[in-house]
Amino acid sequence: MGVIEKCYSYTRSREGKASGYYPFFVSFDGRTDGVARLSDGRELVMCGSNDYLGLSTDPRVTGAAAEAARDLGAGCTGSRLLNGNLELHERLERELAAFFGKEAALVLTTGYQANLGAVAGLCGPGDTVFVDKDAHASLIDAVRLSRARLQWFDHNDTADLAAKLARHPGRGGRLVAVDGVYSMEGDLCPLPELVRVCEEFDATLLVDDAHGAGVLSAGRGTCDHFGLTDRVPLITLTFSKAFGSIGGAVLGDEAVIEYLRHHARSLLFSASSSPANTAAALAALDIVRDEPWRCETVVKKADYMRRELAALGYRTGNSESPVVPVDTHDELHTVIGWKRLMEEGVYVNAVLPPAASPRLRTSYTAVQTDEHLERTLAAFATVRSDLGPVLTDAA
Ligand code: PMP
Repeated sequence: MGVIEKCYSYTRSREGKASGYYPFFVSFDGRTDGVARLSDGRELVMCGSNDYLGLSTDPRVTGAAAEAARDLGAGCTGSRLLNGNLELHERLERELAAFFGKEAALVLTTGYQANLGAVAGLCGPGDTVFVDKDAHASLIDAVRLSRARLQWFDHNDTADLAAKLARHPGRGGRLVAVDGVYSMEGDLCPLPELVRVCEEFDATLLVDDAHGAGVLSAGRGTCDHFGLTDRVPLITLTFSKAFGSIGGAVLGDEAVIEYLRHHARSLLFSASSSPANTAAALAALDIVRDEPWRCETVVKKADYMRRELAALGYRTGNSESPVVPVDTHDELHTVIGWKRLMEEGVYVNAVLPPAASPRLRTSYTAVQTDEHLERTLAAFATVRSDLGPVLTDAA
Protein backbone atom coordinates (compact mmCIF):
# COMPACT_ATOMS: atom_id res chain seq x y z
CA MET A 1 0.00 0.00 0.00
CA GLY A 2 1.25 3.47 -0.84
CA VAL A 3 2.22 6.11 1.69
CA ILE A 4 -1.00 8.08 1.23
CA GLU A 5 -3.38 5.16 0.48
CA LYS A 6 -2.63 3.59 3.84
CA CYS A 7 -3.84 6.79 5.54
CA TYR A 8 -7.24 6.59 3.84
CA SER A 9 -7.62 2.96 4.74
CA TYR A 10 -6.61 3.67 8.37
CA THR A 11 -8.98 6.61 8.67
CA ARG A 12 -11.93 4.61 7.27
CA SER A 13 -11.25 1.85 9.80
CA ARG A 14 -11.58 4.15 12.83
CA GLU A 15 -15.35 3.96 13.15
CA GLY A 16 -15.18 4.16 16.95
CA LYS A 17 -14.40 7.85 16.67
CA ALA A 18 -17.97 8.84 15.90
CA SER A 19 -19.39 6.59 18.61
CA GLY A 20 -17.78 8.51 21.47
CA TYR A 21 -15.46 5.62 22.32
CA TYR A 22 -12.41 7.28 20.76
CA PRO A 23 -10.33 8.41 23.75
CA PHE A 24 -7.63 10.44 22.03
CA PHE A 25 -7.20 14.04 20.86
CA VAL A 26 -9.93 15.30 23.18
CA SER A 27 -10.31 18.98 22.41
CA PHE A 28 -10.17 21.13 25.53
CA ASP A 29 -11.25 24.72 25.44
CA GLY A 30 -9.24 26.69 27.96
CA ARG A 31 -7.09 25.82 30.95
CA THR A 32 -6.72 22.17 31.87
CA ASP A 33 -5.69 22.46 35.52
CA GLY A 34 -8.22 21.39 38.14
CA VAL A 35 -11.28 21.47 35.91
CA ALA A 36 -11.06 21.32 32.12
CA ARG A 37 -13.76 22.53 29.76
CA LEU A 38 -14.69 20.74 26.53
CA SER A 39 -15.67 22.69 23.43
CA ASP A 40 -19.35 21.81 24.11
CA GLY A 41 -19.10 23.61 27.46
CA ARG A 42 -19.03 20.47 29.65
CA GLU A 43 -16.62 20.65 32.58
CA LEU A 44 -14.51 17.69 33.67
CA VAL A 45 -12.29 17.11 36.65
CA MET A 46 -8.82 16.77 35.13
CA CYS A 47 -7.30 13.53 36.37
CA GLY A 48 -4.91 13.01 33.49
CA SER A 49 -2.49 15.89 33.66
CA ASN A 50 1.28 15.81 34.18
CA ASP A 51 1.20 19.28 35.70
CA TYR A 52 2.04 17.64 39.05
CA LEU A 53 2.75 20.84 40.96
CA GLY A 54 0.13 22.97 39.23
CA LEU A 55 2.77 25.31 37.85
CA SER A 56 1.64 25.58 34.22
CA THR A 57 -0.91 28.22 35.23
CA ASP A 58 0.91 29.73 38.21
CA PRO A 59 0.96 33.52 37.61
CA ARG A 60 4.69 33.65 38.40
CA VAL A 61 5.35 31.11 35.65
CA THR A 62 2.95 32.53 33.09
CA GLY A 63 4.13 36.06 33.96
CA ALA A 64 7.76 35.10 33.34
CA ALA A 65 6.74 33.51 30.03
CA ALA A 66 4.78 36.60 28.93
CA GLU A 67 7.59 38.94 29.89
CA ALA A 68 10.20 36.86 28.05
CA ALA A 69 8.04 36.70 24.92
CA ARG A 70 7.54 40.47 25.01
CA ASP A 71 11.20 41.27 25.66
CA LEU A 72 12.95 38.56 23.65
CA GLY A 73 10.45 37.48 21.00
CA ALA A 74 8.13 34.56 20.37
CA GLY A 75 10.93 32.30 19.15
CA CYS A 76 14.69 32.23 18.69
CA THR A 77 14.47 31.30 14.98
CA GLY A 78 17.53 29.13 15.06
CA SER A 79 19.42 26.37 16.78
CA ARG A 80 21.51 27.06 19.86
CA LEU A 81 24.66 26.29 17.86
CA LEU A 82 24.11 29.37 15.72
CA ASN A 83 21.78 32.30 16.33
CA GLY A 84 19.34 30.66 18.78
CA ASN A 85 21.39 30.60 21.98
CA LEU A 86 20.23 32.92 24.76
CA GLU A 87 21.86 33.84 28.03
CA LEU A 88 18.51 32.63 29.42
CA HIS A 89 19.21 29.07 28.20
CA GLU A 90 22.62 29.16 29.84
CA ARG A 91 21.20 30.50 33.11
CA LEU A 92 18.67 27.68 33.15
CA GLU A 93 21.50 25.18 32.59
CA ARG A 94 23.51 26.55 35.52
CA GLU A 95 20.49 26.50 37.81
CA LEU A 96 19.45 22.98 36.79
CA ALA A 97 22.95 21.62 37.36
CA ALA A 98 23.10 23.23 40.81
CA PHE A 99 19.60 22.10 41.82
CA PHE A 100 19.92 18.50 40.66
CA GLY A 101 23.51 18.15 41.85
CA LYS A 102 25.36 17.44 38.60
CA GLU A 103 28.34 19.29 37.13
CA ALA A 104 26.58 20.56 34.02
CA ALA A 105 23.33 20.62 32.06
CA LEU A 106 22.34 20.95 28.43
CA VAL A 107 18.93 22.44 27.64
CA LEU A 108 17.06 21.12 24.59
CA THR A 109 13.67 22.00 23.14
CA THR A 110 11.76 18.98 24.49
CA GLY A 111 12.37 16.01 26.76
CA TYR A 112 11.99 13.78 23.72
CA GLN A 113 14.88 15.61 22.08
CA ALA A 114 16.90 15.40 25.30
CA ASN A 115 16.71 11.60 25.15
CA LEU A 116 17.46 11.53 21.40
CA GLY A 117 20.40 13.85 21.93
CA ALA A 118 21.85 11.99 24.90
CA VAL A 119 21.57 8.46 23.52
CA ALA A 120 22.27 9.09 19.84
CA GLY A 121 24.92 11.67 20.72
CA LEU A 122 26.88 9.18 22.84
CA CYS A 123 26.17 5.80 21.19
CA GLY A 124 26.55 4.49 17.67
CA PRO A 125 27.04 1.30 15.65
CA GLY A 126 29.07 -1.17 17.72
CA ASP A 127 27.58 0.01 21.02
CA THR A 128 24.71 -1.69 22.86
CA VAL A 129 21.91 0.06 24.73
CA PHE A 130 20.08 -2.03 27.34
CA VAL A 131 16.57 -0.66 27.72
CA ASP A 132 13.89 -1.51 30.30
CA LYS A 133 10.85 -2.98 28.49
CA ASP A 134 8.60 -0.24 29.92
CA ALA A 135 10.95 2.64 29.18
CA HIS A 136 9.55 5.67 27.42
CA ALA A 137 9.20 5.59 23.62
CA SER A 138 11.70 8.44 23.26
CA LEU A 139 14.48 6.24 24.65
CA ILE A 140 13.61 3.53 22.15
CA ASP A 141 13.50 6.00 19.26
CA ALA A 142 16.81 7.37 20.50
CA VAL A 143 18.47 3.95 20.28
CA ARG A 144 17.07 3.45 16.78
CA LEU A 145 18.42 6.83 15.72
CA SER A 146 21.83 6.00 17.18
CA ARG A 147 22.08 2.73 15.21
CA ALA A 148 23.44 1.08 18.35
CA ARG A 149 22.19 -2.41 19.18
CA LEU A 150 18.94 -2.39 21.20
CA GLN A 151 18.79 -5.01 23.97
CA TRP A 152 15.60 -5.17 26.04
CA PHE A 153 15.52 -6.35 29.63
CA ASP A 154 12.44 -7.20 31.69
CA HIS A 155 10.81 -4.34 33.53
CA ASN A 156 12.69 -3.47 36.74
CA ASP A 157 14.39 -6.89 36.59
CA THR A 158 18.04 -6.26 37.47
CA ALA A 159 18.83 -10.01 37.40
CA ASP A 160 17.71 -10.09 33.76
CA LEU A 161 19.78 -6.96 33.08
CA ALA A 162 22.86 -8.51 34.73
CA ALA A 163 22.41 -11.71 32.71
CA LYS A 164 22.17 -9.74 29.48
CA LEU A 165 25.17 -7.58 30.33
CA ALA A 166 27.15 -10.73 31.13
CA ARG A 167 26.15 -12.20 27.75
CA HIS A 168 27.30 -9.08 25.88
CA PRO A 169 30.80 -8.37 27.19
CA GLY A 170 31.04 -6.34 23.97
CA ARG A 171 33.89 -4.31 22.64
CA GLY A 172 31.64 -1.31 22.15
CA GLY A 173 30.21 0.97 24.78
CA ARG A 174 27.28 -0.16 26.93
CA LEU A 175 24.53 2.15 28.06
CA VAL A 176 21.63 1.15 30.32
CA ALA A 177 18.53 3.32 29.88
CA VAL A 178 15.61 3.39 32.33
CA ASP A 179 12.89 5.74 33.52
CA GLY A 180 13.18 7.06 37.07
CA VAL A 181 9.39 6.96 37.48
CA TYR A 182 7.51 4.95 34.86
CA SER A 183 5.02 7.17 33.10
CA MET A 184 2.18 4.66 32.75
CA GLU A 185 2.57 2.61 35.95
CA GLY A 186 3.90 5.25 38.32
CA ASP A 187 6.41 2.81 39.83
CA LEU A 188 10.04 3.69 40.50
CA CYS A 189 13.11 2.05 39.00
CA PRO A 190 15.14 -0.07 41.47
CA LEU A 191 17.96 2.46 41.38
CA PRO A 192 20.32 1.03 44.03
CA GLU A 193 20.37 -2.34 42.25
CA LEU A 194 20.69 -0.73 38.82
CA VAL A 195 23.67 1.32 39.98
CA ARG A 196 25.31 -1.77 41.46
CA VAL A 197 24.81 -3.85 38.29
CA CYS A 198 25.99 -1.05 35.99
CA GLU A 199 29.11 -0.50 38.09
CA GLU A 200 29.82 -4.24 38.20
CA PHE A 201 29.61 -4.54 34.40
CA ASP A 202 31.13 -1.15 33.65
CA ALA A 203 28.02 0.06 31.84
CA THR A 204 26.84 3.69 31.84
CA LEU A 205 23.45 4.35 33.44
CA LEU A 206 20.98 6.88 32.05
CA VAL A 207 17.89 7.73 34.10
CA ASP A 208 15.08 9.54 32.30
CA ASP A 209 13.52 11.36 35.23
CA ALA A 210 10.69 13.06 33.34
CA HIS A 211 8.13 12.11 36.03
CA GLY A 212 10.37 12.16 39.10
CA ALA A 213 12.06 15.54 38.69
CA GLY A 214 10.16 18.28 40.47
CA VAL A 215 8.17 15.70 42.44
CA LEU A 216 10.27 13.23 44.44
CA SER A 217 12.74 14.29 47.14
CA ALA A 218 11.60 17.92 47.37
CA GLY A 219 11.78 18.12 43.58
CA ARG A 220 15.33 16.81 43.20
CA GLY A 221 14.01 13.64 41.63
CA THR A 222 14.49 9.90 41.69
CA CYS A 223 18.29 9.84 41.92
CA ASP A 224 18.25 12.17 44.93
CA HIS A 225 15.40 10.14 46.44
CA PHE A 226 17.78 7.17 46.57
CA GLY A 227 20.79 9.33 47.50
CA LEU A 228 22.56 8.17 44.33
CA THR A 229 22.86 11.24 42.12
CA ASP A 230 26.68 11.01 42.18
CA ARG A 231 26.59 7.46 40.86
CA VAL A 232 24.19 8.08 37.96
CA PRO A 233 26.30 9.47 35.11
CA LEU A 234 23.40 10.68 32.96
CA ILE A 235 20.00 12.10 33.90
CA THR A 236 17.47 13.45 31.41
CA LEU A 237 14.56 15.71 32.29
CA THR A 238 11.55 17.35 30.78
CA PHE A 239 9.96 20.67 31.68
CA SER A 240 6.58 19.50 30.34
CA LYS A 241 5.44 17.87 33.55
CA ALA A 242 6.16 19.21 37.07
CA PHE A 243 7.79 22.33 35.58
CA GLY A 244 4.64 23.25 33.68
CA SER A 245 6.42 24.40 30.51
CA ILE A 246 8.07 22.72 27.51
CA GLY A 247 11.70 21.76 27.14
CA GLY A 248 14.18 19.16 28.27
CA ALA A 249 17.67 18.75 29.61
CA VAL A 250 20.55 16.31 29.93
CA LEU A 251 22.59 16.43 33.13
CA GLY A 252 26.04 14.95 33.63
CA ASP A 253 29.73 15.66 33.95
CA GLU A 254 31.01 18.84 32.33
CA ALA A 255 33.06 16.91 29.75
CA VAL A 256 30.06 14.79 28.71
CA ILE A 257 27.78 17.80 28.39
CA GLU A 258 30.41 19.68 26.37
CA TYR A 259 30.68 16.68 24.05
CA LEU A 260 26.89 16.50 23.66
CA ARG A 261 26.74 20.25 23.01
CA HIS A 262 28.58 19.46 19.76
CA HIS A 263 27.26 15.98 18.97
CA ALA A 264 23.56 15.89 19.93
CA ARG A 265 21.86 16.25 16.55
CA SER A 266 18.46 16.92 18.15
CA LEU A 267 20.08 20.03 19.65
CA LEU A 268 22.19 21.08 16.67
CA PHE A 269 19.51 20.73 14.00
CA SER A 270 16.41 22.04 15.75
CA ALA A 271 15.42 25.50 16.93
CA SER A 272 16.13 26.29 20.56
CA SER A 273 13.51 26.45 23.29
CA SER A 274 11.49 29.66 23.02
CA PRO A 275 12.19 32.54 25.43
CA ALA A 276 8.74 32.02 26.98
CA ASN A 277 9.25 28.31 27.59
CA THR A 278 12.76 28.82 28.92
CA ALA A 279 11.74 31.65 31.26
CA ALA A 280 8.74 29.60 32.43
CA ALA A 281 11.01 26.66 33.28
CA LEU A 282 13.35 28.98 35.21
CA ALA A 283 10.43 30.47 37.16
CA ALA A 284 9.07 26.99 37.87
CA LEU A 285 12.48 25.85 39.12
CA ASP A 286 12.50 28.76 41.59
CA ILE A 287 9.08 27.70 42.87
CA VAL A 288 10.08 24.04 43.16
CA ARG A 289 13.09 25.14 45.20
CA ASP A 290 11.11 27.54 47.43
CA GLU A 291 7.86 25.64 47.91
CA PRO A 292 8.58 21.99 48.74
CA TRP A 293 5.04 21.70 50.18
CA ARG A 294 3.82 21.22 46.60
CA CYS A 295 5.74 17.95 46.27
CA GLU A 296 4.52 16.76 49.66
CA THR A 297 0.90 17.66 48.79
CA VAL A 298 0.82 15.83 45.48
CA VAL A 299 2.40 12.71 46.97
CA LYS A 300 -0.20 12.73 49.78
CA LYS A 301 -3.07 13.19 47.32
CA ALA A 302 -1.87 10.27 45.21
CA ASP A 303 -1.53 8.10 48.35
CA TYR A 304 -5.09 8.97 49.31
CA MET A 305 -6.45 8.18 45.84
CA ARG A 306 -4.54 4.91 45.66
CA ARG A 307 -6.07 3.85 48.99
CA GLU A 308 -9.60 4.94 48.10
CA LEU A 309 -9.54 3.42 44.61
CA ALA A 310 -8.34 0.14 46.14
CA ALA A 311 -11.19 0.35 48.68
CA LEU A 312 -13.59 0.56 45.72
CA GLY A 313 -12.07 -2.66 44.46
CA TYR A 314 -9.78 -1.28 41.75
CA ARG A 315 -6.25 -2.60 41.23
CA THR A 316 -3.75 0.24 41.14
CA GLY A 317 -0.53 -1.61 40.35
CA ASN A 318 2.82 -0.70 41.85
CA SER A 319 2.52 3.08 41.80
CA GLU A 320 4.65 5.12 44.22
CA SER A 321 4.16 8.49 42.55
CA PRO A 322 1.40 10.89 41.41
CA VAL A 323 0.69 8.51 38.52
CA VAL A 324 -1.88 5.94 39.63
CA PRO A 325 -2.95 3.37 37.03
CA VAL A 326 -6.29 1.62 37.26
CA ASP A 327 -6.24 -1.87 35.79
CA THR A 328 -8.95 -2.32 33.15
CA HIS A 329 -8.22 -5.90 32.14
CA ASP A 330 -8.55 -5.36 28.39
CA GLU A 331 -8.92 -2.76 25.66
CA LEU A 332 -12.71 -2.95 25.58
CA HIS A 333 -13.06 -2.16 29.28
CA THR A 334 -10.51 0.61 28.94
CA VAL A 335 -12.58 2.53 26.40
CA ILE A 336 -15.87 1.74 28.15
CA GLY A 337 -14.43 2.91 31.47
CA TRP A 338 -12.97 6.01 29.88
CA LYS A 339 -16.28 6.97 28.22
CA ARG A 340 -18.32 6.30 31.37
CA LEU A 341 -15.95 8.43 33.45
CA MET A 342 -16.27 11.24 30.89
CA GLU A 343 -20.06 10.98 31.25
CA GLU A 344 -19.60 11.22 35.03
CA GLY A 345 -17.50 14.37 34.60
CA VAL A 346 -13.95 13.06 34.99
CA TYR A 347 -11.14 12.98 32.44
CA VAL A 348 -8.50 10.25 32.80
CA ASN A 349 -6.01 8.97 30.23
CA ALA A 350 -7.02 5.84 28.34
CA VAL A 351 -3.89 3.78 27.72
CA LEU A 352 -3.99 1.18 24.98
CA PRO A 353 -1.34 -1.03 23.39
CA PRO A 354 1.20 -0.50 21.94
CA ALA A 355 1.81 2.38 24.38
CA ALA A 356 1.39 0.01 27.34
CA SER A 357 -0.99 -2.71 28.47
CA PRO A 358 -4.61 -1.47 28.74
CA ARG A 359 -5.40 0.72 31.74
CA LEU A 360 -6.88 4.00 32.82
CA ARG A 361 -4.04 6.24 33.90
CA THR A 362 -5.00 8.71 36.59
CA SER A 363 -2.63 11.38 37.82
CA TYR A 364 -2.80 13.97 40.55
CA THR A 365 -1.60 17.50 41.07
CA ALA A 366 -0.86 19.77 44.00
CA VAL A 367 -3.66 22.14 42.99
CA GLN A 368 -6.55 19.68 42.76
CA THR A 369 -9.04 20.39 45.53
CA ASP A 370 -10.52 17.82 47.90
CA GLU A 371 -13.78 18.31 46.01
CA HIS A 372 -12.07 17.31 42.72
CA LEU A 373 -10.79 14.14 44.34
CA GLU A 374 -14.16 13.27 45.90
CA ARG A 375 -15.92 13.83 42.55
CA THR A 376 -13.38 11.54 40.93
CA LEU A 377 -13.93 8.81 43.51
CA ALA A 378 -17.71 9.17 43.17
CA ALA A 379 -17.36 8.73 39.40
CA PHE A 380 -15.19 5.63 39.84
CA ALA A 381 -17.78 4.25 42.29
CA THR A 382 -20.56 4.85 39.75
CA VAL A 383 -18.77 3.16 36.86
CA ARG A 384 -17.85 0.07 38.89
CA SER A 385 -20.65 -1.98 37.38
CA ASP A 386 -19.34 -1.23 33.85
CA LEU A 387 -15.86 -2.35 34.88
CA GLY A 388 -16.97 -5.45 36.82
CA PRO A 389 -14.34 -7.90 35.56
CA VAL A 390 -11.46 -5.74 36.73
CA LEU A 391 -12.52 -5.41 40.34
CA THR A 392 -10.72 -7.35 43.02
CA ASP A 393 -12.59 -10.01 45.01
CA ALA A 394 -12.38 -7.69 48.00
CA ALA A 395 -14.78 -5.23 46.40
N1 PMP B 1 10.38 10.70 28.96
C1 PMP B 1 9.25 10.31 29.58
C2 PMP B 1 9.33 9.23 30.62
C3 PMP B 1 8.03 10.91 29.26
O1 PMP B 1 6.90 10.51 29.87
C4 PMP B 1 8.01 11.93 28.28
C5 PMP B 1 6.72 12.63 27.90
N2 PMP B 1 5.60 11.88 27.87
C6 PMP B 1 9.19 12.29 27.66
C7 PMP B 1 10.36 11.67 28.03
C8 PMP B 1 9.23 13.34 26.59
O2 PMP B 1 9.13 14.60 27.16
P1 PMP B 1 8.60 15.86 26.34
O3 PMP B 1 7.13 15.89 26.48
O4 PMP B 1 9.28 17.00 26.99
O5 PMP B 1 9.04 15.68 24.92
